[in-house]
Amino acid sequence: MVLGIIIGTCEQSSFPGNIKEIIELLDDSPVFDSPTVDLLKWASGYYHYPIGEVFYSALPIALKKNKKEQLKPVTQWHATENGDEKLIKRSALCKEALKIIKESPRTALYLKEIGIKTQTIKKLSSLNLIKENNIRDTMTRWYDRDIIVTDSHTLNEEQLNAFNIINNCRGFKTFVLHGVTGSGKTEVYLQLIAEKLREGRQALILVPEINLTPQTISRFFKRFNVPIVCIHSSLSETERHEAFIAMKKNEAAILIGTRSALFSNIPNLGIIIIDEEHDSSYRQADGFRYNARDCAVMMAYIRKIPIVLGTATPSIETCYNILRGKYEEIRIDNRAGASNSVIFSIIDMRKQYIEHGISRELALHINEELAKEHQVMLLLNRRGYSQKMICHNCGFVFMCQNCDANLTYHQTENRLICHHCETRYPVPVYCPKCGNHELTPTGNGTEQILEHLSTIFPNARPVRMDRDTTSKKGSLNVILNDISANKYNIIIGTQMLAKGHHFPNVTLVGIIDIDSQLYSNNFRASENLAQLIVQIAGRAGRGNKQGYVYLQTHTPEHPLLTTLINGGYDAFSQKCLLRRMNLKLPPATSLAVLKVDGTDREKVVGYISDAYNYMLSVKNDYPETTFSHPVSAFFTRRQNRYHYYINISSLTRKEHSLFIEKIISVINSFRYRSNVHCLIEVDPLNLD
Ligand code: ADP
Ligand code: ZN
Repeated sequence: MVLGIIIGTCEQSSFPGNIKEIIELLDDSPVFDSPTVDLLKWASGYYHYPIGEVFYSALPIALKKNKKEQLKPVTQWHATENGDEKLIKRSALCKEALKIIKESPRTALYLKEIGIKTQTIKKLSSLNLIKENNIRDTMTRWYDRDIIVTDSHTLNEEQLNAFNIINNCRGFKTFVLHGVTGSGKTEVYLQLIAEKLREGRQALILVPEINLTPQTISRFFKRFNVPIVCIHSSLSETERHEAFIAMKKNEAAILIGTRSALFSNIPNLGIIIIDEEHDSSYRQADGFRYNARDCAVMMAYIRKIPIVLGTATPSIETCYNILRGKYEEIRIDNRAGASNSVIFSIIDMRKQYIEHGISRELALHINEELAKEHQVMLLLNRRGYSQKMICHNCGFVFMCQNCDANLTYHQTENRLICHHCETRYPVPVYCPKCGNHELTPTGNGTEQILEHLSTIFPNARPVRMDRDTTSKKGSLNVILNDISANKYNIIIGTQMLAKGHHFPNVTLVGIIDIDSQLYSNNFRASENLAQLIVQIAGRAGRGNKQGYVYLQTHTPEHPLLTTLINGGYDAFSQKCLLRRMNLKLPPATSLAVLKVDGTDREKVVGYISDAYNYMLSVKNDYPETTFSHPVSAFFTRRQNRYHYYINISSLTRKEHSLFIEKIISVINSFRYRSNVHCLIEVDPLNLD
């Protein structure tokens, strides 16, 4: 038995093969409503990905298992009259939870999402202070209630302007809410959503995975008296499925989720909000490689509703769409509330005394802030202890056996780790080439800086925030809460630091080293770096204290840095877009990449040469399309597979699509097809 999805019906089939009977219908009502079906069909065409797999990837996991759509009752807790509150006198957690439940009955999901532990609930329940009931049947319909909002701010002039423009929009339109970090964009979203709720319409908010913290979610939960559901990776399959169904049945009013939440069935959707639209996590990196932001715009178009793309650093694609008049830009140039703008300085490392990657000048500034009991954030985009392990005698660099990449030394794990395939190796004692035992770790990583912070700053209470310290479920939230509670005063981490966090006591951001990222062969590298710098800078001075940003570099005259410092992100993005247009790179052209990989290099090259020769043979029919020679990926060998690619770019989307169709029609006929893996990726983020 296999699972099938009905996406249309017809009287007579033109399908040449055998047509299978339907054995059983699993759902009482369509899983996807017609706008979602239209969206998925469009996505299949746009990304040239098989329609069955597109639909399959959009299904909640629970439904992929031939499960029937079944609804469990929702647990709701309410306070009792007869419990003895003296029994929890000493438990702040219990008192806090009881207070919230007393305000109004709360669902188990609500309590979970605002960070109340199951233990606390159990305790209260065992003491008869709270009682549960199941509300699916008796659930009051949210759209029949008065929508009550709590703790909303009076919008300032710029916010109000944005709010009015978007709120007055009837029908489809894409707005770019371009506001510096802390300018009150979220406040605008919340008030727009309130208006939609009053019209009886639902709302969808997409956020990057890492931003979907309890802090973000509780801001929504605390604002509205309507059911809110979430779809993200730390929820179980069942919980995600529940959220999907609650939206579909209009039992929930707001869905907050990551990328895949876009494919939920939301019958009364009134507005879509994409927070941090520039974030690369909206791009699905494997399987059906779609960009959730771009698909969301299509969804808004299909549903004839407004969509808001919020960001402090619009992607170059979005800048291009603003320039072409496809998107309407609304700016918020000042920070909301009391916070000031940050003061940016460059530290020229060539003239500095440097201790463990930190210049004396930066150290002085850090000490000053620490003395004032402020917090400091340090960005270093390298995990691990040291970037490389090198033999001091012969210069041998320890490399991964499966990849063309050097190994990173991780001290906590005491292993050499490949950052491409995650293979772990014991730390060597001798050089395998010359036998010398002086093996030197070189290039600072976050682990190493963390180790030295306490010697450089005796009063430091440092913490590290990178993929290694946050990979365990819930560990990121523990760190975030501890930072909020001032348990730490120095936070060292990777680009993860730059994402959305709001710590009012952080007054200084130090960018330890970005020099290696200034030179890269990826045409998007400078865009990503500029966004990273602006976003991390936005973490400083979010409260009512002055914020400072220091950027350490050996090339202070690099055009990216000077443009960014003197003209800000706007000057950078204008230049970057112009450059892309001159070089006929996206977004001025449509780009796709044919990626081929396999374990046998000869066969991979054989296959891709055939593909290339085929492209040459049809070239004349596609005058607006160009393609590169077969190129080997930057790290050609990864996990013992050789990677090669061909770029395909066209001046028009239409011809691009036709050309790709043409290639796909013959893709199985090239030599060694069964020995290689190949795919065509449309609008790729990375070429290799
Ligand atoms: P963004 O989403 O642009 O980063 P937020 O909406 O998170 O900005 O706002 C940043 C801070 O300013 C928050 O603490 C928020 O409560 C506060 N804030 C937002 N709008 C206003 C306003 N109109 N008046 C006072 N404070 C505000
Ligand atoms: Zn490897």
